Amino acid sequence: MTVRVRIAPSPTGDPHVGTAYIGLINYCFAKKLGGKFVLRIEDTDQTRCTEASAQAIYGSLKWLGLNYDEGPDVGGDYGPYVQSERVKLGMYGQYAEQLVEQGDAYYCFCTARELEAMKARQRAAGEPIMYDRRHRGIDLQEARARASAGEPFVIRLKVPLEGEHVYKDRLRKSPVVKAWKDIDDQVLMKSDGWPTYHLAAVVDDHLMAITHVIRAEEWLNSLPKHTLINQKLGFTAPEYIHVGLLRNADKSKISKRKNPTNLLWYRAQGYLPEALLNFLATLGHSHPDGRERFSLDELIAIFDIERINVAGPVFDLGKLKHLQGQWFRDLSTERIAQEVHTAIDARFTALLPLFRERMSFGADFIWQAEPFYAESVTPHLDDLVPKGWDKEQSRAGLEATQAMLKAYAATETPLWDAATLEKLVRDLLEAKQWQGKQLFMSLRVALTGKRESPPLFDTMANLGAMRCLERLGLAQQKLK
Ligand code: GLU
Repeated sequence: MTVRVRIAPSPTGDPHVGTAYIGLINYCFAKKLGGKFVLRIEDTDQTRCTEASAQAIYGSLKWLGLNYDEGPDVGGDYGPYVQSERVKLGMYGQYAEQLVEQGDAYYCFCTARELEAMKARQRAAGEPIMYDRRHRGIDLQEARARASAGEPFVIRLKVPLEGEHVYKDRLRKSPVVKAWKDIDDQVLMKSDGWPTYHLAAVVDDHLMAITHVIRAEEWLNSLPKHTLINQKLGFTAPEYIHVGLLRNADKSKISKRKNPTNLLWYRAQGYLPEALLNFLATLGHSHPDGRERFSLDELIAIFDIERINVAGPVFDLGKLKHLQGQWFRDLSTERIAQEVHTAIDARFTALLPLFRERMSFGADFIWQAEPFYAESVTPHLDDLVPKGWDKEQSRAGLEATQAMLKAYAATETPLWDAATLEKLVRDLLEAKQWQGKQLFMSLRVALTGKRESPPLFDTMANLGAMRCLERLGLAQQKLK
């Protein structure tokens, strides 16, 4: 048996560090056993998935060196590797039909309104929120007639009403047990004729001859459904292995509120792929010799899936920075020069338009743009308190702006550009009935350490969310 593993990210938003983590484990597992590592794109939720996001996943995995043997942009014998393309080829409908025919799935005609009312009633009664299986007994002929007459429907999985699903995951000491009665009659086909993740993933793992599904433990809850679908369709199920989720320091699931999760961010910051992979590796898999620093090839050599951390490794950016430093200083002088140039150029191109009106000599750029290159600035206390405001007002102004920006930065896809930032700050001013003049001066000084700078909102846009929030925090401390 050839080992075949896959990762199956959904292309919503930015490429996620969790995808790299699960990708790394799958990659090592495949390489260690002479198997294949497959990338499949799961985009059946067309309202949330974008092509740009899929492209960013391809680019990020390649940047990291997690080269997949088969995938959307590299091909392979089991394609297409994008689910929306498979939907268009009609690859899922027959399986849903088979389940219906066998009596293992059924047509459900509940309207959105009915489902809402059901939920409201369950909520009021303090019952668990789930489909109450009211169409489970529907006569198949009658259901087919209604469907052909054009009535919208979904197809639901008929989950057993008694007994338990028991699964011994090889990474866990005791089996994971779940009562079937607590599991929803999962929708398999949506009313638009598209499969849900659950049906599509199981069918594709089968059609793509996947032998091991290694994924994050958040999918453990879905496992009973997946086992049932496999069983009823007569598939030999892959082995399912659930690894610990990356976590914030407070043990919650890693989130961008508390950690950078976007792989593009790491790349733009100049993190070396070697360092990021090394870091992710140490989170999941310790080195038998206790070593902290090792390469991808070394990891493959010592890799053992049984050693994988299930406890939910804590993502510690400080540790990553430490490893990054070690990798960086070991680079050749040419490579370091290249990294320096890349870092300077990336900022320079964006900053030059802000300064050209203010310069008489090329060298003017160096001191004027200094706050944009510096790690931090040291504003003067007097400058932070503009005319007409006292210390406490300035502090409160910075605090309110920081809180507002922090909340905005944590939204799904914040646009950190001058126009958006200006609107946000002006809305805040209006809400607080503050004068722009004073707040703008405090902000300018807090962010740049100077009383003069390029336009405030361009300044904020170019500093980026992290540095803005950090500098606003430091200035408040100064004002205390
Ligand atoms: N599409 C799922 C995700 O976004 C894949 C889960 C799985 O690996 O089965 O993570």
